[in-house]
Amino acid sequence: PPLTGKDKLEIAPINTWLPDLQRPLVISGPCSAETEEQVIKTCQQLAATGKVDVLRAGIWKPRTRPNNFEGIGTVGLEWLRKAKEATGMKIAVEVANKQHVEEALKYGVDILWIGARTTVNPFSVQEIADALQGIDVPVLVKNPINADLELWIGALERLSGAGITKLGAIHRGFAKYGETKFRNAPQWQLPIELKRRMPDLPMICDPSHICGNRELLAEISQQAMDLNYTGLMLESHIDPDKAWSDAKQQVTPDRLAEIIDGLVLRNGYN
Ligand code: PEP
Ligand code: MN
Repeated sequence: PPLTGKDKLEIAPINTWLPDLQRPLVISGPCSAETEEQVIKTCQQLAATGKVDVLRAGIWKPRTRPNNFEGIGTVGLEWLRKAKEATGMKIAVEVANKQHVEEALKYGVDILWIGARTTVNPFSVQEIADALQGIDVPVLVKNPINADLELWIGALERLSGAGITKLGAIHRGFAKYGETKFRNAPQWQLPIELKRRMPDLPMICDPSHICGNRELLAEISQQAMDLNYTGLMLESHIDPDKAWSDAKQQVTPDRLAEIIDGLVLRNGYN
């Protein structure tokens, strides 16, 4: 049942922080910011499609194992600021600690998100919430790596406790051992139950990290629309095969636009 009384979170309607919202809301951009040229070109090509509301890019990358690209760091925030200036696109960045929050806000990042490897850690989530006390910036919370709905809700409650009302959830699937069709199993019952308990919470699906490849993106995006999700977060890159992280699942801005165009929107929307 929906949370009520003291358990009910105050959630601002999404059009209070994204006034020009289209349906679906589309957040797209590279897994990682790599070079200034890559960030700006990707952003310009995404803006040219007219289908993307927000540019995403990872600046600090939480890699499962060491000796992989761990993110370009603060210099990338300057590229994102330039991309925003050039296109008017809003910018979203992943934050995992207090320093990330402070740097991102200093560079005018519009939307923060908490990654799946951070949502699992209440200490990290609380540190982020404390750093955001009194700052009503939108924060999107990815599901934890493991299929633990309470941990996902707990992260949203910690942010709400710091006074954040511009909240949303990102469904990026759940880790499983062994070879499976999806990189992360969608386990739709978890986001469905989350929405049941927090009916006002905007739900965004991240087909890129669910699928782990390009072929299944359209199918998962459609399923999210069938479940009336508010939007999609999809990774895109000017040259996907050469991406420094998550190369297999990224698409060009043109392919992204095709996927969005191919969606059938139900429930009276079109
Ligand atoms: C990402 O969005 O690039 C990312 C690291 O995702 P996740 O936290 O879902 O693994
Ligand atoms: Mn990624």
